[in-house]
Amino acid sequence: MSSYESTVRYFDQAAGMMGLSANMRKLLLTPLRELKVQIAVERDNGEIATYIGYRVQHDNARGPMKGGLRYHPEVNADEVLALASLMTWKTAVVNIPYGGAKGGIAVNTKDLSQGELERLTRKFVDQIHDVIGPDTDIPAPDMATNAQVMAWIMNQYGKYHGFNPAVVTGKPVELHGSEGREEATGRGVVTVTCALLEKLKRKVNHTTVALQGFGNVGSFAATFLHERGAKVLGVTDASGGVWNPEGLDIPALLQFTKERGSIKGFSGGDALSNEELLASDVDVLIPAALGNVLDAHNAENVRAKFIVEAANNPTQPEADDVFHRRGITVVPDILANAGGVTVSYFEWVQNRQHFKWELARVRTELDRIMTESFDRVWEIAESRKVPLRVAAYLLGIGRVGRATVLGGL
Ligand code: GLU
Repeated sequence: MSSYESTVRYFDQAAGMMGLSANMRKLLLTPLRELKVQIAVERDNGEIATYIGYRVQHDNARGPMKGGLRYHPEVNADEVLALASLMTWKTAVVNIPYGGAKGGIAVNTKDLSQGELERLTRKFVDQIHDVIGPDTDIPAPDMATNAQVMAWIMNQYGKYHGFNPAVVTGKPVELHGSEGREEATGRGVVTVTCALLEKLKRKVNHTTVALQGFGNVGSFAATFLHERGAKVLGVTDASGGVWNPEGLDIPALLQFTKERGSIKGFSGGDALSNEELLASDVDVLIPAALGNVLDAHNAENVRAKFIVEAANNPTQPEADDVFHRRGITVVPDILANAGGVTVSYFEWVQNRQHFKWELARVRTELDRIMTESFDRVWEIAESRKVPLRVAAYLLGIGRVGRATVLGGL
């Protein structure tokens, strides 16, 4: 099943329960615009390299479209469309005034120098600047893009349209970015994890965790979990993994990865493969890397009681069915990882008001939105007797559907 087919299946589960007509379903699923562009850049050695860039603008019924830009070799039209649609439901679940979009370039950034990365980014903006903007579509970081890339986007966009920092979020704090944006997705993941544990009368400091991915999301999630007293027993990244039944020393692991670029060679535990991590005996499993990692095959081996989807689209529908049957609670991506786009919203608000918030205010507002959204989804799940994913889709689709009908065609 393709990534987009998976998201449509999740949509259909909820849309069926809502009794949405076929026409309405088609309207809500069909993207507003799909863009595929050529990006030709000069390499440092003088050669020409040609890449393909994408931007899918999925829905704008609730506001300007919003979503990250991903630089990854596997980026393709199907995946970007799937991720754009997830942004539509995600912004609706946390009730921020945006629609959904997503973009990316099929490229391995490890093959590029910093100069090549900058030229690639500026060329991409040259191709899409007419269709993005603070009131239409606002990019942000995603896999392998960061604050520096966002700074180049703001600068290049400004060459066409004048100074307008709100065209992109996730910028450096020194250049119109927001305090707390970098940590936001990981922090939100931990807020909803703790909210879940509280509902089930479990103590965070008696909870064990396995984490797939130690990039922006995984590393901050690990940090906040560690701060709250949970034990992170296992972590993997693209280079390998590490396991310590007593709990990993997360500050030491962070320091190590800062210096070495990956967790390979960290001595604070035993080696661990990805498959072992997914099947490890922990309370909470947090996939925080690629999509589609939990499938029909490995879902049967999962021993965690709870899965919190820090990554986008990590669970294939067949695996989701297995988790439901086995009584494993899944906190879905469109709720669990919405902290990033929520603080992107705060950044956009600050840019438009030319007024900077303190970190404490960002954190307080983020924690409030994540907790309230979790509670709302939990209530729907309880009252409708459905899994949290279906409840989140019921909430998200309901809000987008109402805005669509109110606005009219
Ligand atoms: N890429 C992030 C996500 O998937 C953040 C998007 C944003 O901040 O606009 O939610």
